[in-house]
Amino acid sequence: MELLFEISKPGRSGVQIPASDVPAVNIGEAIGAKYLRGDLDLPEVAEIDLVRHYTNLSRRNFGVDLGFYPLGSCTMKYNPKINENIAALPGFTGLHPLAPEVFSQGNLELMYDMQKLLSSLFGMADFTLQPAAGAHGELTGVMMIKKYFEKLGHKRRQILIPDAAHGTNPASGALCGFETVTLRSSAEGGVDLAHLESLMTEEVAALMLTNPNTLGLFERNIEKVATIVHGRGGLLYGDGANANAYLGKTRPGDLGFDVIQLNLHKTFSTPHGGGGPGSGPVGVGKILVDFLPVPRVVKNGAAYSLSEDFPDTIGRVRAFYGNFSVIVKACAYIRSLGAQGLRRATEMAVLNANYIQERLKEHFDLPYDRICMHECVFSGSRRAAETGVHTTDVAKRLIDFGYHPPTIYFPLIVPEAIMIEPTETESKETLDAFCDAMIAIAKEAKDNPQRVKDAPLSTPVGRLDEVMAARKPDVCWKKTGNGR
Ligand SMILES: *Cc1c(COP(=O)(O)O)cnc(C)c1O
Repeated sequence: MELLFEISKPGRSGVQIPASDVPAVNIGEAIGAKYLRGDLDLPEVAEIDLVRHYTNLSRRNFGVDLGFYPLGSCTMKYNPKINENIAALPGFTGLHPLAPEVFSQGNLELMYDMQKLLSSLFGMADFTLQPAAGAHGELTGVMMIKKYFEKLGHKRRQILIPDAAHGTNPASGALCGFETVTLRSSAEGGVDLAHLESLMTEEVAALMLTNPNTLGLFERNIEKVATIVHGRGGLLYGDGANANAYLGKTRPGDLGFDVIQLNLHKTFSTPHGGGGPGSGPVGVGKILVDFLPVPRVVKNGAAYSLSEDFPDTIGRVRAFYGNFSVIVKACAYIRSLGAQGLRRATEMAVLNANYIQERLKEHFDLPYDRICMHECVFSGSRRAAETGVHTTDVAKRLIDFGYHPPTIYFPLIVPEAIMIEPTETESKETLDAFCDAMIAIAKEAKDNPQRVKDAPLSTPVGRLDEVMAARKPDVCWKKTGNGR
């Protein structure tokens, strides 16, 4: 596709600038010639060329609104458009973050309500809505854990992280100065209790646990895990990115978690991917409430305000009060579904994942053959050994069938992993069509492996050199002289 610079023709324009109603000023004289850089080399195109350019570009993209997007550990579900409409109401978008509290009572009330709603949904004492993403929530949670032990005067320098964990978990621990120690998974895909017993010393501040974990498996021994960690004075941190697997079924607070981050952009209706805005609220049990970041939204009588008056706080973790529009969307989603709707969403997410697991397990090796939660994880190592077709090839071939590839090569403990999260919003027809495509590719890997290895065959660009793309990204357009 040609770039705007390449279709540019001198003198074309897509804008009409109204006649000036102020006297003309020579900018060079007014601010000093040294600030002028010479002519800006901007493309000159008509409006219709501009519209076509961006529309064509957008049609080369893939999104949830276009097709099935089974990325695992990511919850790429369809998000009802009404939540976007509500977040776009002028009362939400038009308020300046520095407006006095008397003018922001409605928005403060919404934030206060969300703190309460999330607290009751997750069984925590209170929530902060400040963190801007899941990883940022983890960092906030670990900072609170650190401050908690500082206050107690305990020197604990380790954090335990299961080998199935998302990479952001060890990163958050390390950023706070902890040594991260890897905890093994058991043969059935959960925490290895004996290993936990041996690692859980008075040096350990916390265990960061994802439940259900990134294998999509619920931790059956969660109560034992909590008892071991708490028994040695440690805290249990919950990575709540997979909360769509248990809404209305169980609550992390009841399972023994002391602190948990959510990913509103995964579980609670914000379209994400490509680095869009996220939100990672953090919930805490009673023992950590004093350490929550400030400002906190508080209620005095009928009035809402932002309070900094918490002496043990870890301080501020973000400018202003979080990604407010994401919080509004989550609020709209929770309120429109209600308790029963959330429970049903969870049931459908789990049912859909198990449906795919059952349909595909004849054709794709299932390393942990148990009922899964919101996602299922297959291994492609036998296929790779027998046919030379690797998981990445299967993923690329799926593009030719019109699907976004699932998550691959994660979690790290499953060789050649293929991780599929269908989410609650997909119909049986969609799931069946996807499974048919996966089964067709599995057969093709035997009959015509080269075809799978050459995929994608139907896209404007084929197989890219992913290593070079990461090591030597070439993202600058260089003027070649054609065009203008
Ligand atoms: C997505 C995810 C994270 C990180 O969340 P971000 O919002 O991308 O920072 C952490 N843990 C798990 C299990 C996740 O799936």
